[in-house]
Amino acid sequence: MKKLYRELLEIPGAPSFESHVKKHLRGALEPIAEEILEDRLGSIFGGININSKGPRVVIAGHMDEVGAMVTGITEEGLVKMKALGGMKGDVFLSQHMIIYTDDLEEIPGVTASKPPHLTRGKKEEKPLTFDELRLDIGAESKEHAEELGVKIGQQIIPRNHYTVTADGKKIISKAWDDRFGCAMAVDILEEFAGKDIPCALYGGGTVQEEAGLRGAKTATYMLDPDIFIAVDCSPCQDSFGGDEISGKLNEGFLVRFHDPNQIMHRGMKKHIEEVAEKHGIQFQYYHSKGGTDAARAQLSRSGVLVATVGMPARYIHSTTSMIHQNDYEAVRAVLKELVKTFDKETLETIKKNV
Ligand SMILES: [Zn+2]
Repeated sequence: MKKLYRELLEIPGAPSFESHVKKHLRGALEPIAEEILEDRLGSIFGGININSKGPRVVIAGHMDEVGAMVTGITEEGLVKMKALGGMKGDVFLSQHMIIYTDDLEEIPGVTASKPPHLTRGKKEEKPLTFDELRLDIGAESKEHAEELGVKIGQQIIPRNHYTVTADGKKIISKAWDDRFGCAMAVDILEEFAGKDIPCALYGGGTVQEEAGLRGAKTATYMLDPDIFIAVDCSPCQDSFGGDEISGKLNEGFLVRFHDPNQIMHRGMKKHIEEVAEKHGIQFQYYHSKGGTDAARAQLSRSGVLVATVGMPARYIHSTTSMIHQNDYEAVRAVLKELVKTFDKETLETIKKNV
């Protein structure tokens, strides 16, 4: 795995705070892209083979990660937070979180939780929502917190503890969702830069996916693609039982055939399955209760052929998450083979297969 993956994982970037991620992504795109396009919300894409007469193809990650925003400080000096993205309060108890200033100076803290000594013998309290949690930065009063640099509107992100598991196969980190997709988009562009491909290929990252697929709307309008592939992490249920369509690590990339915002285009589904089967690339079907940027991209202009090439990931939308390197290989392999097939004729065949 290229070092860009880890580099992007380490950068804080809640929805609407993607600028530092974008700066790094731009740095990775500049040496390979023939042009770099940015929309007014902040999404960024680099293109190769841009004068091709073939289809316009986009591979997109999203730059934001779930995080929070400072909404106030109590008289006792505890920081109030608002979730940016879907997060449950109970998985954020006693967690290391960092408030970032605009210059990425760190104000570290821990989310307050009651140890059993304080709750023993008492009736069980209902679990807190994320927004009811308080971040303890060690401030002794509201004024003290302000002196330490806390301001309303700053972003809050879990401290990262990037870890490779003992078997060397899995990696635990914050923000796999979806720096994985951003790094993969660059990875695929790099693969084909200067080579003969049948399409104009753009890769990069959107903003504010976790806040309601917002960046995908404007980015897709700007890029005006024929084909848009969202590369995004989807939550696996395999450590909690699960079934054959709820995602497993080490079973290949996910064909997200249905989610509440998108029924996978049947022509795209057929094409992706055929390409994967032809090249012996492992995949699994996946049904989701969430959405990806593909859902928003498909409704751009007069419609776009979209698909999500999903990356199985455990525990996303918490402080951390786990992926398997074999699944990374499967995602990379299928994207690589797909790009080679996206010529005019294939585009027409995909369109007809509805
Ligand atoms: Zn995502």
